[in-house]
Amino acid sequence: MEHYLDNAATTKPCAEAAAAMMRCISEYYGNPSSLHSKGLEAQHEVDAARQTIADALGCKPQELLFTSGATESNNLALRGAAAAYGRKRKKMIVSAVEHASVKQTLAYLETEGFNVVPIAPGADGLYHPADFLAQVDKDTCLVSMMLVNNENGYRMPVEEVFRAVKRRDPEIITHCDAVQGFLKVPFRTRTLGADLVSISGHKVHGIKGVGALYVKQGIRVKPILFGGHQEKGIRPGTESVPLIAAFGAAAGALAPTLDARYEKVSQLRSRLLELLRSLDNVVIRDIPGASPYVLNLSLLGYRSEIVLHYLEKREIYVSSGSACSKGASSGVLETFGAKPEEVDSALRISLCAENTEEDLVALAEGLRDAQRELMH
Ligand code: PLP
Repeated sequence: MEHYLDNAATTKPCAEAAAAMMRCISEYYGNPSSLHSKGLEAQHEVDAARQTIADALGCKPQELLFTSGATESNNLALRGAAAAYGRKRKKMIVSAVEHASVKQTLAYLETEGFNVVPIAPGADGLYHPADFLAQVDKDTCLVSMMLVNNENGYRMPVEEVFRAVKRRDPEIITHCDAVQGFLKVPFRTRTLGADLVSISGHKVHGIKGVGALYVKQGIRVKPILFGGHQEKGIRPGTESVPLIAAFGAAAGALAPTLDARYEKVSQLRSRLLELLRSLDNVVIRDIPGASPYVLNLSLLGYRSEIVLHYLEKREIYVSSGSACSKGASSGVLETFGAKPEEVDSALRISLCAENTEEDLVALAEGLRDAQRELMH
């Protein structure tokens, strides 16, 4: 039996998403820009998805732009805001634990003359608005902070930081990568205080290759692609109607169950913690107020990849804990204070509401057996 515990990497598409995708492939295959009825019915699919996702985010449909995924949303948000607002203001303040799609975009903007200031968590491993405020000055163009960290599930204090920043200077643009929070932890764009919010379809039981960027009414983002008039000309290119419709269908299915799923996943997480605490030599990163969907741990003495592949043989699927790219750590766990041996042995377990106690028991047994059978 399969035990899929890697839902922060991607989720299994739900039946509603698959059905919407098929409908748009086989029936509503028109180009939304076409003036005839085939175009119109495809446009209806896009409009309906935009409305559903806007409702789930707590924004207006006109404030959402569809993209190819959150990587593009983050690129568009940061580069687009830099082009619109960064002629005079050159400073960008960012949490030091962002996803590569934010970090690398900012690294690029540095080569364009921006001054990027990463903020590390405090000695307690948590973020505090004062640390961001200390960096805010007249040169500050933008502040970017993710909602839920993809490696350890930390629910970052985005509202507090953005509120404090805006109080200091309302002209500063605020961006939030909400990929791991959307439809998982409750939030609304309005209360977040964000001008720009990135989300992704495949993290919420949609299909890979579609995402969206919320752009608050009145905020300007310059395009990074050039072409037709689609998505207000800010994101040109024929819309991927099947993927957009699938994203909308997934959001429509998930939004009404957010609280119930949060509760269920919280219970699963508590059970998982109980099971893990019965193991020896395990470090568990149980951060206060974390999203229940992600848990990071280290099985001390056992390299992540070795354990990952050991578990895989039992059809238990997890991630190495430090979003490794070809063996190199992303540096995020270190930034949160993990020691090198903890980083080497880190595993990320990420849940969804379809997971069961059986999955967790299988994982705990797998880890116990790994400690017994694998070489240190
Ligand atoms: N931001 C975060 C926090 C993520 O976890 C991911 C995916 O791993 C992304 C952005 C990129 O999303 P996408 O796969 O839609 O490009």
